[in-house]
Amino acid sequence: MKTVKVDWLGDCEKCGVESALVETENGKEDWLYEGDKVTCCCGHTGHVEILPCEPVAYAVWDELPEAE
Ligand SMILES: [Zn+2]
Repeated sequence: MKTVKVDWLGDCEKCGVESALVETENGKEDWLYEGDKVTCCCGHTGHVEILPCEPVAYAVWDELPEAE
């Protein structure tokens, strides 16, 4: 496993930052795999999903805790 920094997965749902760190086995800065773990600099986490018909990866963020 290695960690790469990407800025094309979409904004973090918590803080709006566009770049995130992704833990990936075989991916790289411009190519990620389904299920790779995404972590934002604010600590929010999610995972990578791939569109069914196109090689387009995007971040699916974990549910945010209830706003206080
Ligand atoms: Zn964030």
